[in-house]
Amino acid sequence: MSAQDDSSYDAAREAMVREQIAGRGIRDRRVLEALRRVPRHSFIPAAERARAYDDGPVPIGQGQTISQPYIVALMTELVRPQPGDRVLEVGTGSGYQAAVLARLVRHVYTIELEETLARSATAVLRELKFENITVRTGDGYGGWPEHAPFDIVIVTAAPEHIPQPLIDQLKPGGRLIVPVGPRFSVQQLQLLEKDANGAIKTTEVSPVMFVPLRRP
Ligand code: SAH
Repeated sequence: MSAQDDSSYDAAREAMVREQIAGRGIRDRRVLEALRRVPRHSFIPAAERARAYDDGPVPIGQGQTISQPYIVALMTELVRPQPGDRVLEVGTGSGYQAAVLARLVRHVYTIELEETLARSATAVLRELKFENITVRTGDGYGGWPEHAPFDIVIVTAAPEHIPQPLIDQLKPGGRLIVPVGPRFSVQQLQLLEKDANGAIKTTEVSPVMFVPLRRP
């Protein structure tokens, strides 16, 4: 049986959404539905697959991790995804966060520094028939000017400061979510909202721990 059609994970995924996501206060029905639909285990290497629905991050190779399910849900809810939105993700990793967002928006453009990860994410997303995700290998510090501006920018690795190009590539009315802080320590999850006039409002959401956003 391939990992993709293995229904033995259904109960674990339901429990994950009920206990870790809805149970901790995520209310957006579209977000909960996306978490129910995306087979998280398909994004996790076979050796770690038994931990796919655990309440924590899981190693995905190259020293990187797929984020804790609750953090994926929280970041997704905070950026208020709308069906017509175009999204930039920095840090494709396994491709799971991109898949969750792709169920909620028009298109996700996602950049990954590690070629091995970009390739495996592309393969899984193709197998699962996601047609509104574009993966690119490269450095996300500069964003993706060819497809800018974006309604949403989501950064899933931690920079010490928010890269200015990512702010510049956000539309008026856009939302940017990013963990900001020192490497391998606690960072602050920050939500930036750009209003119609281009003014920025920043909200500190909660302390988190992400792998660092690296310079190539
Ligand atoms: N969103 C991912 C988890 C990301 S882990 C998921 O759903 O699985 C963070 C990822 O950011 C890692 O894969 C790491 O290789 C990548 N990364 C680190 N620095 C980067 C950079 N400068 N540009 C693009 N990706 C980067």
